[in-house]
Amino acid sequence: MGAAACAEPGPGGPLTGPSPAFRPPRDDFPILSRPVNGQPLVWLDSAASAQKPRIVLDAMRTFAETHYANVHRGVHGLGHAATEAYEAARNRVAAFIGAAAADEVVFVRGATEAINLVAASFGRSTLRAGDEIVLTELEHHANIVPWQLLREASGVVLRVVPIGDDGTVSLDDLRATLGTRTRLVAVAHVSNVLGTVLPVAEIARLAHAAGARLLVDGCQAVPGRPVDVTALGADFYVFSAHKMYGPTGIGVLWGRRELLAAMPPWQGGGEMIASVSFERTTFKKPPYRFEAGTPPIIEAIGLAAACDYLAGLGLAGIAAHEQALRACAVERLRAVPGLRLLAAEGPGERAGILSFIIDGVHPHDIATVLDTAGIAIRAGHHCAQPLMRRLGVAATARASFGLYNTSADVDALAEGLMRVREVFG
Ligand code: PMP
Repeated sequence: MGAAACAEPGPGGPLTGPSPAFRPPRDDFPILSRPVNGQPLVWLDSAASAQKPRIVLDAMRTFAETHYANVHRGVHGLGHAATEAYEAARNRVAAFIGAAAADEVVFVRGATEAINLVAASFGRSTLRAGDEIVLTELEHHANIVPWQLLREASGVVLRVVPIGDDGTVSLDDLRATLGTRTRLVAVAHVSNVLGTVLPVAEIARLAHAAGARLLVDGCQAVPGRPVDVTALGADFYVFSAHKMYGPTGIGVLWGRRELLAAMPPWQGGGEMIASVSFERTTFKKPPYRFEAGTPPIIEAIGLAAACDYLAGLGLAGIAAHEQALRACAVERLRAVPGLRLLAAEGPGERAGILSFIIDGVHPHDIATVLDTAGIAIRAGHHCAQPLMRRLGVAATARASFGLYNTSADVDALAEGLMRVREVFG
């Protein structure tokens, strides 16, 4: 990207990002107007969790104040109203991700729980000792550890596709890792450390040609690009609401209807049963079979509001905006002496996530100095220790961009990093 990546200002004035077609709706986010350490907040940690627009907060509050009851239980009016709202939320989420039907959407606690569900249910019921699960070297621990637990229980074998020095996953390397025993491929859609966008549609074709299923961890994709799970050809797709400007405590497992229908429950309790006796219990159809106990009702309302909000803004515009911010940041950060961007450039698309280190300065110290200027980034291993090992570092500093960030935030980051250099000589 050339200097144009950081060109300012666009037609919307000072709040305009480097992508002139998209105007970051900062006023929608109450928290962005609070100072941190006496400075205006510069939130560059959306990949860890995104801030919440008023429309999401209001939707949850209004529901709790006017329609709240437990769902699928009460014969009273509020029970019906709450159930209708909860199921309407499922419909809206299904439409948002291009699911063929609402019953392909299972509400869970988050992406972590969704992957554990698939490992415990699909994994234990269909995979046998010696069957292979293929992962990549850039996975989040949430897409590694559940498969290791399954390995202990069932004797499955984990195989790992290496990444290139540029942080990409090559289809040739994937092809070489797939074998006659491959039953499942489980990959991130977007790396939470490098922003690499994996070619999941091609990965789906290769996995299916090898007779395997594909699970996609869409945590970092759903907040920032149009995702159509049916068109992608995945079999399972998981994500968390809190990274897509929705509430904590809820996420989604999307699964192909016929796969979910064949899967046994993984947790037992109220609401997931058809009938119970001490001798025998029968179960409801998906998605209810997988939603034991009282579900995250208020959170489902918030998640649906977040879907509507993102759809209203336009995911393609958000993607272009975040990519432009990232390109601008790459350019600005290159000018910081001693700063090394990690696997930041290469073929293929990158989402708005960028990792870097500074010679002789621990990433935690970078984050601490930036925090004094009101700039929030993440420092650490980002729950991706195998990737850290591949990159040859223990930790990175990570800036991640959301729909509310502007090129002024990139300027603040670049200036903050110059200050880090001064502080640490
Ligand atoms: N996968 C990826 C790629 C992530 O970035 C995260 C969150 N950091 C997770 C999985 C886990 O998400 P959660 O903690 O919301 O379950």
